[in-house]
Amino acid sequence: MADTITTTNPRTGEALATYPVADAGEVQAAVTRARKAFADWGHRTHEERRPYLTALQRVAVDNVDRIGEVIAAETGRDRGDALFSEVLPAAAGARYAAKQAGRILAPRKASAWPLLTRKGWVEYLPRGVAAIITPWNYPFNLSWNPTVTAVAAGCTVVLKPSEVTASAGQLVKDLADEAGLPSGVVEVVHGAGETGAALVADEVDIISFTGSPATGRKIAHAAAERLTPLILELGGNDAFVVLEDADVKRAARGALWGGMLNAGQTCVAVERVYVVDAVYDDFVAELTKGADQLNAGAGDRNDVGPITFPPRAAIIERQLEDARSKGATILRGGTHSEVPGGGVLFQPTIVTDVDHTMELMQRETFGPVLAVMRVPDEQAALELANDSSYGLHGSVWTRNRERGAAFAQAMRTGTVAVNDVMVNAGFADLPFGGVGESGYGSNWGPEGLRAFCYPKTYTTPRVSPRSELWWFPRRISARAWKGLIRLTLRR
Ligand code: NAD
Repeated sequence: MADTITTTNPRTGEALATYPVADAGEVQAAVTRARKAFADWGHRTHEERRPYLTALQRVAVDNVDRIGEVIAAETGRDRGDALFSEVLPAAAGARYAAKQAGRILAPRKASAWPLLTRKGWVEYLPRGVAAIITPWNYPFNLSWNPTVTAVAAGCTVVLKPSEVTASAGQLVKDLADEAGLPSGVVEVVHGAGETGAALVADEVDIISFTGSPATGRKIAHAAAERLTPLILELGGNDAFVVLEDADVKRAARGALWGGMLNAGQTCVAVERVYVVDAVYDDFVAELTKGADQLNAGAGDRNDVGPITFPPRAAIIERQLEDARSKGATILRGGTHSEVPGGGVLFQPTIVTDVDHTMELMQRETFGPVLAVMRVPDEQAALELANDSSYGLHGSVWTRNRERGAAFAQAMRTGTVAVNDVMVNAGFADLPFGGVGESGYGSNWGPEGLRAFCYPKTYTTPRVSPRSELWWFPRRISARAWKGLIRLTLRR
């Protein structure tokens, strides 16, 4: 295991920052500090925690430029894109946690019917130390938001950010310190898979993992050892469906943005586009026109920048080669070049004449590639959209709202949009997650806050006779119970 990790700017190859790698002993020490901090943080009321959450919201807003710079340098993305896609949801997430955690996690009275002599309620108690392991594609917000959510729920956190974008993860810890969070509430450990594996194997109380299905599987196996609860936010190969009554121009622009933002390195990126025959030619003409206007490069203000993690380029190239060999047409792009410093730049790529035997349609591509398929009708589009082992995001485009809503409901995904694309993750109040190989559990919204808690239920009698009807010795016959069940539970 290397002693240090160094992050680099994918535009220039310039080294950005070096961090010591945490071995199992250092991981354990961080978990111990977080456990110690939990003894206090986990027992505070929401009212007591709220000022800290508001402080987190403020530091996110007050440090917009600093956060944007780190993201742009580490990922190769345009700064404006970085602010919209990471700092905006990060600040909104902290604001949501500050304003809503107390209400969402408040104890709830439970109906006791038909046990009328009882009352019961549930409390949402923090699980303890949360291990948060995150990827490089949206490195700040995907580290920040689960951290803030966990902290709002009363957990303490040990964050293991991606080794490719460690500074964005370090920034989460630095901003938590600047917001005045007590020592040990947010810890960070750096390193690659081995450090992550050591954290998963340690005595943590919940794991929130965002990353690839392959690593997700390894973590699920490891978590099974200690039965540690797990939230898995994994990859996608998302479908985008254009029906014959769609606003084709808007749909084409939506597909282009959804496929090319962050060079397609978005878990909810548009990857598979299904267009009904009647509007296929118009749609493809609009899409290629839009693609021709994009500027791809390794400068500061490019629409499509280089691949953040250069080894990933081989997967994109392999999928394109597989598609070519099976008869696909590369309408635009399809080429890549080396940028100064060793990064890889893919031209915005549009592929047609695709089918589901191609890897492009079966696996996540994670590059600036849109595969467009002509389909006869809505039914065929739905069947193909759902012919996927993933199920993260999907979208449907039609001028008929009811038709759109029905189609969206029939898509097998955790998040879906009608005449829209990829903004679900920007709603702090919506749970975010997938089905199938895209994972399980949620990191956002009320469900996200509750995921870091365990529900603890209480009961107590309203009156306390010396004995109860169902205690020993039995005082109610089976016949009487039958009558009572029929009387109280038939309607
Ligand atoms: P990855 O799985 O390679 O790595 C993710 C993190 O896991 C990194 O911090 C890495 O160091 C760590 N890790 C690696 N091996 C580990 C192990 N054995 N035990 C514990 N931790 C380990 O993913 P990536 O390449 O960084 O990110 C890209 C993937 O993430 C894509 O599949 C993308 O779709 C997915 N993603 C999903 C979401 C979502 O919310 N569903 C969001 C963003 C990215």
